[in-house]
Amino acid sequence: MNVVLNAVQLIGVGMHEILCQPSIDNLSDLLDNSEYRYLLPLKTDYGARLIDIPDNRYFECPDCQTLHSALHLKVQYDGNKVYTKKQPCDPCGSRLKPRFAR
Ligand SMILES: [Zn+2]
Repeated sequence: MNVVLNAVQLIGVGMHEILCQPSIDNLSDLLDNSEYRYLLPLKTDYGARLIDIPDNRYFECPDCQTLHSALHLKVQYDGNKVYTKKQPCDPCGSRLKPRFAR
């Protein structure tokens, strides 16, 4: 469900804005409200910025070996700290790992 929603929004106006002006402010439509609220203070207090253009990527579960498509997001803040979107596996709850590193 989330994956389909993200894909539609990425293709629409949201993607255009993100490509022209990659910014945490433009991610409100793509993120859960709780994650967006988590990132906003990182931006205002720690200068967080996107270091990758958000897109859909493949992830795999190291425990149950399933393949997933989900939004990839990488944010740098407070010097060298990096935040990446946490991707839990639907069937087993383990944290997903990127399938194809770029
Ligand atoms: Zn799993």
